[in-house]
Amino acid sequence: MGSPETFKLDTALFARVYLGSNFVNIPLVCRKCGKCCEKLSHVVYYPDRREIEVENIEEIREFLGIRYYEVLEELEREVGGINAVMVSPCPFLRNGKCTVYPARPASCKSFPIYGDFGVGCPALRRFEEVLKALGCEKAERVCMPLDSVEKGKPSKAFVEKYLSIAEEEEIELFFALNSVADFI
Ligand code: SF4
Ligand code: SF4
Repeated sequence: MGSPETFKLDTALFARVYLGSNFVNIPLVCRKCGKCCEKLSHVVYYPDRREIEVENIEEIREFLGIRYYEVLEELEREVGGINAVMVSPCPFLRNGKCTVYPARPASCKSFPIYGDFGVGCPALRRFEEVLKALGCEKAERVCMPLDSVEKGKPSKAFVEKYLSIAEEEEIELFFALNSVADFI
């Protein structure tokens, strides 16, 4: 899900487009609006057990240490009750920033590559517009650690077309995802 700007990008979301025998990776760049963390939290709070359930909660607990109990206390005050509840906005979101970013769930890392789910994600909207402008709407969508991405080798004509519509952050990630050293 959302990646506040102070955090380094570790997972790349992109579309892989095949161009004859080569391919090119088109980046999906998060606009850091926090809408997904506000609207699509997968966190469930169990007041009776004083526990939080979400993917990789053990990693999150370890990452937060004592601060995990502060989140629990806050939920106890704000949510109360005795029955399990989905908590939205995500309780790990503070001042628009994810406080567990390095340990965030896989579903947060891959959002919104598999769909928007009613969030109204501006990054997905922009990504779809870019793919349409490039004539690449049927591209394969991919989410993986940035350092393990196999780099694309687009033609000069394709790079020029992409650069004519891309924004600064998109260009930076485009170069990280593709081998285009000859063209820059
Ligand atoms: S809604 Fe989209 S653009 Fe906004 S933080 Fe989430 S992934 Fe990023
Ligand atoms: S864990 Fe972080 S990235 Fe995931 S929803 Fe919560 S605040 Fe957003």
